[in-house]
Amino acid sequence: MKLEYIALAIPFFVFFMLLEYYISRRKNRKTHQFNESIANLNVGIVERISDLLTTGTFFFVFTWLHQNWAVFTIESNWLTWILLFLATDLVWYWYHRFGHEINLFWAAHIVHHQSDDFNYTAAARITVIQAVFRGLFWSILPIIGFPAEMITVLLLIHGTYPFFTHTQLVGKLGWLEYIIVTPSHHRVHHSSNPEYLDKNYGDMLIIWDKIFGTFAEEKAEPQYGLTKSLGSHSFLWQHFHYFLELIVAVRLAKTTKAKLKIIFGSPNDHDPRIRTLLERKLSQKVTHIQYTEKLIRAIQIKTITTIIVLFGTILFSHHISPINLWLMTTFIVLSVIITGAMLEQKRWIFHLEFARFSILCFIFNETVMTIYVTALILMIYTLTLLFYKTIHTTYQRFLFSN
Ligand SMILES: [Zn+2]
Ligand SMILES: [Zn+2]
Repeated sequence: MKLEYIALAIPFFVFFMLLEYYISRRKNRKTHQFNESIANLNVGIVERISDLLTTGTFFFVFTWLHQNWAVFTIESNWLTWILLFLATDLVWYWYHRFGHEINLFWAAHIVHHQSDDFNYTAAARITVIQAVFRGLFWSILPIIGFPAEMITVLLLIHGTYPFFTHTQLVGKLGWLEYIIVTPSHHRVHHSSNPEYLDKNYGDMLIIWDKIFGTFAEEKAEPQYGLTKSLGSHSFLWQHFHYFLELIVAVRLAKTTKAKLKIIFGSPNDHDPRIRTLLERKLSQKVTHIQYTEKLIRAIQIKTITTIIVLFGTILFSHHISPINLWLMTTFIVLSVIITGAMLEQKRWIFHLEFARFSILCFIFNETVMTIYVTALILMIYTLTLLFYKTIHTTYQRFLFSN
């Protein structure tokens, strides 16, 4: 049976997240907030499932670019591997720096910085949009002449290493601090202390920051998160608020030059009042929510289930029909939108639950195609529709009442 072993990355990362949480608790360090951790995991879950699509697409793009546009013919040997490592890390530095200095790229990268916590769950905050931008930057490598197979190996390394720099539990690492990006360096990068802003962009080597003048050493205690905290755990709002802010800013700008300056200009020049305006319009700012024990338990169970479904979908992806793969992806995306909305006690969650239930029925019917199964599903479905309002009220009461 052909399995997709990249799925093993999920238990691998989850193990370290749990280990970090356990050690933090034992050391009495307050490094994890429930809502922040769930919101972080939600972003990572969707990135993992969409990875199936983006990695394949970019492998195809890299191969095509290499075959048609490669400037040099590069063979695989120890020297070219070192060169490729240096090249990918340098490209990463600029991709990351542009991600902070250009509004369009910041709209995608901002999600990585929204968490007010700094731990391994925050490392999971990579969006699919960011993965696409990263792939576009990396397209320079096959044009130079590096084969797609070599680049894919390096992508895996670059996808794993930075996970381990997102922790408060590891102090300074002696002489390694001069060469590689350490947790201390990356803590600075995730901080909103004025002296730490726009510093330490490196992914694996810190030398680029020293060469290009963006290095800062960790001295004062870092304050994590954005300078203006988002104050929302909604999956959709986290992903799209800055894009929406840019659209509003572009519409308000009078000339084409001014509009282009907004898209490609610096986030430092962006008007923060636009977010407040959108928050008021879309009522996204939710503060002081009391989570009941029941709600916490429900979110925990839902998140664990979604991670298991994610793991199974990726592991057995070669044996799932394309239609079911899309349906599973939609199911997973709906699941994280729901848990994000549960954190904000949104009243429309039940309708999405129903959509999720419909998808499940469809998949089940597709997989076990017998007349009895179809009849049973139709019966359950009709009953749910008949008692929709009652189930809705019970669901709502169960989750949000004390
Ligand atoms: Zn960053
Ligand atoms: Zn980071």
